[in-house]
Amino acid sequence: MSDVLAVADHRRGELRDVSFEIVRAGRELAADLGGDLHLAVIAGDTEAFADRLSLAGVDAIHVVDDGVEFNHDLYAGATAALFEELSPTAVLMPNSVNGLDYAPAVANRLDLPLVADAVGLAYDGGLEATREMYGSKVETAVGVSEEPFAVTVRGGEWAAVEETADVPVEAFDYEFDESASGARVQGFEEVGAGDVDIADAEFLVSIGRGIEEEENLELIEELAEVTGATLSSSRPIVDNGWLPKNRQVGQSGKQVTPDVYLAIGISGAVQHVAGMKGAETIIAINTDPNAPIFDIADYGIVGDLFDVVPELIEQFS
Ligand SMILES: Cc1cc2nc3c(=O)[nH]c(=O)nc-3n(C[C@H](O)[C@H](O)[C@H](O)COP(=O)(O)OP(=O)(O)OC[C@H]3O[C@@H](n4cnc5c(N)ncnc54)[C@H](O)[C@@H]3O)c2cc1C
Repeated sequence: MSDVLAVADHRRGELRDVSFEIVRAGRELAADLGGDLHLAVIAGDTEAFADRLSLAGVDAIHVVDDGVEFNHDLYAGATAALFEELSPTAVLMPNSVNGLDYAPAVANRLDLPLVADAVGLAYDGGLEATREMYGSKVETAVGVSEEPFAVTVRGGEWAAVEETADVPVEAFDYEFDESASGARVQGFEEVGAGDVDIADAEFLVSIGRGIEEEENLELIEELAEVTGATLSSSRPIVDNGWLPKNRQVGQSGKQVTPDVYLAIGISGAVQHVAGMKGAETIIAINTDPNAPIFDIADYGIVGDLFDVVPELIEQFS
């Protein structure tokens, strides 16, 4: 008891950023509880993943070497079995596509209370988790008095742990009977397969309804090219079919945390801001000086994008 078990996340052979962030969330919670942090690595290239995740603050890594990709039954079963073996106070899982799939099953199997999509965790005799509502407009505190408990943590909310350490790695012997499994993974299909993942981009040039017409996108593509940025957008651009869904930033799109987010002709609606407020530096170009995007921008240009963007292209060229 008083330990924390956190589960790493990977997809298509790559560890997801949340794996490094969950180490910080888990370490902080374990410190509050006065226990150890155990990290589970399930499936994939477990040896390489465990090596990358030998990070400061992790007390032990447990690897379940079975399969290559995410599988619901494997993850739910192995996490629950590891939990039973270690008897921690908390199990943290990522609030990712994978985590959202198996975390409720883990909580159900172990009969644990589950707080989903936490953006903050504190423990003082009981868990107090912070969640966001109404497109991140309202923060709520969720108190959990029952122990042990399960939490899914939102990516991009904790700073990734980068400092490496010498962490013992143990193979966890979990017998996974795939033939008895109710679910089959048929394969993976990324939306807009072959396209970039804006969640990984360091510099995003993002376009909104201010662009007016699809053909004007060319101008923004030129800016993205000369600045080496990746193109993303607000929802109306995707709804119009001008860019694929995997380029949409926001509540119903992707959560992004680039170093620089250049919002062009984007008003800054809460549902959009929910996806990009974690950017290191936000720059906005908008004709309306009262646009809400300026409330969160570090730098703003009040101006017509059709004047400002060509000027930027010239400067960067
Ligand atoms: C359940 C739900 C989920 C949603 N999820 C998302 C989501 O994931 N992502 C998302 O983005 N939205 C989402 N939305 C929609 C959201 O509420 C807004 O409608 C949307 O973000 C607005 O997009 P926009 O800023 O591009 O357009 P607008 O709000 O129309 O803003 C356009 C901006 O461009 C400026 N502009 C106009 N012409 C120029 C010019 N020539 N030069 C410079 N600036 C100019 C205007 O001043 C204005 O501020 C969601 C809505 C709901 C209800």
